[in-house]
Amino acid sequence: PDAQEPIELARRLVRAVSEPVEVEGAWISVGASAGVALSGLTDHTERDPLDLLRCADLAVYAAKQRTAEPVALYDDEMDQLIAIQEDIEAGLSAAIEAGHGELSLVYQPQVDALTGDPVGFEVLVRWDRAGRGPVSPGLFVPIAERSGLIVDLDLWIIESALGQLDRWAHDPTLGRAKMAVNVSGRSLLDMSFVERFTEVLAAAEATPARLTLEITETALVTDLDLAASQLEALRRLGVRVAIDDFGTGYTSVAHLRALPVDEIKIDLSFVQGLPDRENYLLIQMINELARRLDVPTVAEGVETVDQLDALREIGCDYLQGYLFARPMPAAEVPGWIRSVERGRSLNGTALQGSAAEPATVQDRFSPR
Ligand code: C2E
Ligand code: CA
Ligand code: CA
Repeated sequence: PDAQEPIELARRLVRAVSEPVEVEGAWISVGASAGVALSGLTDHTERDPLDLLRCADLAVYAAKQRTAEPVALYDDEMDQLIAIQEDIEAGLSAAIEAGHGELSLVYQPQVDALTGDPVGFEVLVRWDRAGRGPVSPGLFVPIAERSGLIVDLDLWIIESALGQLDRWAHDPTLGRAKMAVNVSGRSLLDMSFVERFTEVLAAAEATPARLTLEITETALVTDLDLAASQLEALRRLGVRVAIDDFGTGYTSVAHLRALPVDEIKIDLSFVQGLPDRENYLLIQMINELARRLDVPTVAEGVETVDQLDALREIGCDYLQGYLFARPMPAAEVPGWIRSVERGRSLNGTALQGSAAEPATVQDRFSPR
C-alpha cells in the first residue's frame, strides 16, 4: 500500500551494493540502480506479474539515466518516454541504412583567431525525418549512444565527410581545408571501431592528417586507460584528435598528460559567459594549460564581437561560432569562402583612407 517502503528497501540495497569491496588487494566500488513498480494500489494500477516486472524495468532504466537518485518509481510518463525513444531508434536505424536521404551533413567553419582565415570545418549531422521534419542531434545522438546505433552513425558520417574532402580536393581554396568530425565516446570504446575506421580511411583519397576526431572530455574519463589506447591507435593512422567540450568533464592535469591529444576545444558555455571575469579567467587557464602541453585551442560558440575580442586577447588559436558562420550544407561552402575573401580585400582598401567603424566581422582581423 505504501510506495515509500519498497523505495527505502531499494535504497538500502543500493547502498549495500555500493560499499567498496577488496578484490586481490585492490578496492573496487560499483554502483547500482533500482526500479520500483506497484500493483493493486487502486483499481487501474492492478498489474499481472509480467507487467509489474516490465514497469519496474522501465523505472530502473529511468534511474540509470540520472545520477543523483539511484531509485526510481514507475509512472505512466515512462511508458511514453520509452515509446518516443524506440520510435527514434527505429527511424534512425532505417535512415542510416538508407544513407543520404534523411541524413545529411552541415559544415561549420573554424577560423584563425589572428587573421580570420578559414582553416577548416566541423562536420555536424542533420536528420530531416520524412513527414516529421528536423530532429535535433541533441535529442537523437544520446538515444543512438544508448542503443549502440551511434557506432554505425559515426562511421557513416566519417565516410561521407571524407567523400566531401575528396570532392573538394581540386578546389584551390578548399583543397587544404581540415575537417573535424565528432566521435562519440561509445564509438571510441567500441572494440570494432578502430578496425572499421581504418577501412573507411583507407578507402578515401584524403590524407588522414586533414581529419580531426572530436571526442568529448566526459567520454574520455569513463575509461581512461582504454580511451588512451584507442586514441593512440587512431593517431597512429595519422589522424588528429581533439578533446571536445573541454572544461566540463573534470579531467585532471594528470589525465591530460596521459591522453594523446592534438587540440583542445573550449566548451561553448565558457565562451558564452564572456566577458564575465570568471569565465575569462577559466578560459585563460585552459589556454595556458594547452600552451604547456603544446597543443592549440579552439574556442567554440563565439557569437559576439565582445567574445571575439576577449578570446583574441587571451590568445586562443582558432575560433568557431555563429559570429563567423552557422553550420551550412556543403554546396554553400565555396560561396561563403568567396564572401570572406571579398570582405577582406574591401577592408584592405577601406582601412587605408578612412577611420570608419568596422563594418563586418572580417574587419576585426588584422591583415596578414
Ligand atoms: P558539439 O560537438 O559541441 O557541437 C557544437 C554545437 O554547437 C553544434 O550544435 C553547433 O551547431 C552549435 N554551435 C556552433 N556555433 C554556435 C554558436 O555560436 N552559438 C550556439 N548557441 N551554438 C553554436 P548541434 O549541431 O545541434 O550539435 C549538438 C551536439 O550533438 C554536438 O555538440 C555533438 O555532441 C552532437 N553531434 C552533432 N553532430 C554530430 C555527429 O555528426 N556525430 C556525433 N557523434 N555527434 C554529433
Ligand atoms: Ca564537436
Ligand atoms: Ca563542443
